[in-house]
Amino acid sequence: MSNPIPATLIPGDGIGPEIVDATLAALDALKAPFVWDRQIAGLEGVTTAGDPLPKATLDSIRRTRLALKGPLETPSGGGYRSSNVRLREEFKLYANLRPALTVVPGGRFDNIDLVVVRENLEGLYIGHEHYVQIDDDPHAVAMATGINTRAGCRRILEFAFEHSIATGRKKITVVHKANIMKALTGIFKETAEAMYEAKYKGKIQFETVIVDACAMKLVLNPWQFDVIVTTNLFGDILSDLVAGLVGGLGMAPGANIGADAAIFEAVHGSAPDIAGQGKANPVALMLAAAMMLDHVQRTDLATRLRQGLSATLNIDQVRTGDLGASPSTAQFTQALVARLKA
Ligand code: NAD
Repeated sequence: MSNPIPATLIPGDGIGPEIVDATLAALDALKAPFVWDRQIAGLEGVTTAGDPLPKATLDSIRRTRLALKGPLETPSGGGYRSSNVRLREEFKLYANLRPALTVVPGGRFDNIDLVVVRENLEGLYIGHEHYVQIDDDPHAVAMATGINTRAGCRRILEFAFEHSIATGRKKITVVHKANIMKALTGIFKETAEAMYEAKYKGKIQFETVIVDACAMKLVLNPWQFDVIVTTNLFGDILSDLVAGLVGGLGMAPGANIGADAAIFEAVHGSAPDIAGQGKANPVALMLAAAMMLDHVQRTDLATRLRQGLSATLNIDQVRTGDLGASPSTAQFTQALVARLKA
């Protein structure tokens, strides 16, 4: 194997192990250079190690700085915090990258190719929330504080500009609500404008759009967008919206990239309603694996994986149930592996 690359593998919960096995079969067919260190987290972490994010899993990611992760369930009760949020904080995974690319043509929107870059650590998601009691109502007032820092804005914006230019993108759209949240999202807009003037002018087109208008434009004419960069809450909402433009959760990969590590995953959850039935769509996780190959500069293998997926879905017409067909995860994987080995 050329230049082996150590990486952590977390099969995850629900359909996680099924789609992870399918993805490993595709990566093996490509002779991808990853050397996996298999670890547990989520519900499996709780049942086997008493912790949804055991120390051994964190140590492994600290060592490899690279992980492929199945969906994790946060056990309700027991006061557990979401493992996904803990992973973001622990490894300062400040950039959430969500590409939306049409893989199966003929849907409601065709030829979609855009990327949402979401700030992952700041904003209204920092969890500073509380209630104020008035008389006998303990929840009479609810309050939340959002925090965006200059350094945090610069970090995500620089990532978005550099990533867009390096991948040949044409335009970057900065999404904000600075007309109302003048400080909280004004700092994001103002930092973006200053960085564009100082460093990126002439290298890429630039615009700023208010979030509500952006949502409408994404539905009316998504083709006008290329890369969207925005704060945490707006990014959470808009990245699900763009997943909907390309056929939903089964087709949507995501990457969490930071100072200390990069973690690749499908956008969807553990799908407990279909777990263990062999019918999960593994495409989202496979597209996340393609992003991981890009990240380690094996774009040759990433391109072969994306081409293989497209050929299996569109030429061979092998698709799982969520795409309106009957083949199982195993049948889809078999057809893809045959394509990749051809
Ligand atoms: P979900 O994404 O698991 O499922 C929503 C619907 O989409 C279900 O009907 C499911 O069957 C379907 N679906 C999802 N992925 C599919 C696939 N690959 N193929 C075919 N159908 C698929 O969302 P949920 O039910 O709200 O969440 C279930 C659990 O997953 C929760 O515990 C939640 O916290 C967790 N979750 C984890 C992550 C993550 O680890 N990144 C993300 C979202 C939700």
